[in-house]
Amino acid sequence: MKSVLKKGRMDKLVTDVLSCHSCELYECRQNPVLGEGDLGSPVVFVGEAPGRKEDETGRPFVGSAGRMLDQFLRHVGLERGDVYITNIVKCRPPGNRRPRSDEILTCTPYLEKQLDIISPRILAPLGNSATGYIMKQFGLKRSRIGEVHGKIVPAEAPWGPVVILPLFHPAAVLYNRKLENAMKNDFESLKRLLDREMDLVFEGS
Ligand code: URA
Repeated sequence: MKSVLKKGRMDKLVTDVLSCHSCELYECRQNPVLGEGDLGSPVVFVGEAPGRKEDETGRPFVGSAGRMLDQFLRHVGLERGDVYITNIVKCRPPGNRRPRSDEILTCTPYLEKQLDIISPRILAPLGNSATGYIMKQFGLKRSRIGEVHGKIVPAEAPWGPVVILPLFHPAAVLYNRKLENAMKNDFESLKRLLDREMDLVFEGS
């Protein structure tokens, strides 16, 4: 899809989410957080839901977990602007509680549309909730993030073949520094996948 078309479709989603009253989360949000980054990115990171800072700014992963995510991106030579970052749920659940299953059900058509627009070759769910959601969507067995992180799971998306690479949630690494090395290794796997993806793009051109 041409980048101007992608931008037009994503801008429409921004407008839709700004006026979304489909679940009660809109009542306590300051700003919905659709997502941000390169619409041509081969990888989309999917977190759980916006937190306090994200709710204040309307941007994903800008609080302490976001700084951690930036650090891992930089570890493999990437910047936020090189990738696309979003969440399963677009409005902050009060008190940072987990989004409920009815809220996830109501909100995820936004994520599905975003993924359809970006059509990434790699999906990187961050943490248990996002991994569970993505695995279920693709008809795959749900496993705990501790077992499945860093594993390359091939799947078929409506827009073509994808690779799912579950990662720990950056907030989990923040609270348990023992996960840091595993997270670095998983980001190195991601970078290798991205480099291979770029080779395929050049071979095909
Ligand atoms: N945690 C998430 O899952 N998403 C954010 O955007 C921020 C923190």
